[in-house]
Amino acid sequence: MEHCDVLIVGGGPAGSTLAWKLKAAGLDVLILDKKTFPRDKTCAGWITPAVIETLKLDTADYARGRVFQPIRRFVTGTIGGKEVHTGYDATVSYGIRRFEFDDYLLNRCGARLVLGEPLKSLKHEGDGWAVNGKLHAPLVVGAGGHFCPVARYLGANLGADEQIIAAQEIEFEMSAAQQQACKVAEDRPELYFCDDLKGYGWIFRKGNFLNIGLGREDNHKLSEHVAAFCDGLKAQGRIPSDTPTKFHGHAYLLYPHAPRQLVDDGLLLIGDAAGLAYPQSGEGIRPAIESAILAADTLLATRGDYRRAQLEPYVSQMTARFGKRLQGPTPAEPGRFVQRLKQSLAHWLLRRSWFARHVVIDRWFLHRQQPPLPS
Ligand SMILES: Cc1cc2nc3c(=O)[nH]c(=O)nc-3n(C[C@H](O)[C@H](O)[C@H](O)COP(=O)(O)OP(=O)(O)OC[C@H]3O[C@@H](n4cnc5c(N)ncnc54)[C@H](O)[C@@H]3O)c2cc1C
Repeated sequence: MEHCDVLIVGGGPAGSTLAWKLKAAGLDVLILDKKTFPRDKTCAGWITPAVIETLKLDTADYARGRVFQPIRRFVTGTIGGKEVHTGYDATVSYGIRRFEFDDYLLNRCGARLVLGEPLKSLKHEGDGWAVNGKLHAPLVVGAGGHFCPVARYLGANLGADEQIIAAQEIEFEMSAAQQQACKVAEDRPELYFCDDLKGYGWIFRKGNFLNIGLGREDNHKLSEHVAAFCDGLKAQGRIPSDTPTKFHGHAYLLYPHAPRQLVDDGLLLIGDAAGLAYPQSGEGIRPAIESAILAADTLLATRGDYRRAQLEPYVSQMTARFGKRLQGPTPAEPGRFVQRLKQSLAHWLLRRSWFARHVVIDRWFLHRQQPPLPS
């Protein structure tokens, strides 16, 4: 049996950030991931400056040979509706490729890595957990994303009683001809809300890479929404007419609606495994790394005593940082008339420049109202 102080299941941004903090404090940390790295992850790859600050990312080093696209402008609106342009004097976000970003953070964190192996078994053994019959740790952290097996172990009823956001996305490297045909500017992501406001589509150019996707609160006919969005973009000549059509799907939970239990004796969840994405934008990388920082603070304070009561401060810190989760069933949708009224008002607001800048971009997508979490 191979022993470590903390075993983290999942080497995405949440897992590697926690490992980075615990390693710096002198703990022996092991990350188990079912994939070998670098690996693709379905994601638009948009990160806000708070992520860079909390991760203490050496941007000059990172940008060497990797896509690191500064963002200074945005186009917002509704699909097929009026476009609103918003610009900033300085860089307000960055575009990265998860293929590169996650690999960089994983290598930087210094943990021992067991890659290309999924978690197959998790059993109480001695004073901790035996994983896959060969790894042993007093604490196992679930950082395996939305479908994390540790979250399942803690009772998450994946897909059954959870209100998921379903998204489909494609990222591909454009040929020279496609780059010529693509009318999306590199420093200007485009965000278009669905007519019923239950989701939004995006186009995001990062260097030679184009990322197109659409996420919705309900996954009913998601593929049709995605196809219609892309067809519209092609018809307008915004994206190359030969843009591939094989989209990849994934799901995540918005923080207010995620019912997942975060801790138990010797177990703790971070990142998407805990269901943390910001409600309006679906941004999940920042909450993932912030949950890892808060988890590290709690874990180091326990001095190795990982009973549930000692881990509860993590839950309180998460509530202090992200707010209270909504309890009970989602309220019933208002009647058709009220819905129409709300939609008309929202469409009217989305056409206004001040609303696009101060609400849609600054609050919903850049989350500027919340300062970065110190690490
Ligand atoms: C279409 C789409 C677009 C998005 N765009 C953005 C964006 O632009 N910006 C943003 O901030 N957020 C975005 N998000 C959300 C973001 O991708 C996630 O919030 C983020 O990846 C969470 O990081 P994580 O480390 O918790 O999980 P993940 O990044 O999902 O990493 C989990 C890791 O666990 C591993 N794993 C899974 N199961 C097992 C197992 N059984 N055993 C071992 N290992 C396992 C996986 O291989 C993976 O490496 C997007 C999400 C989607 C679906």
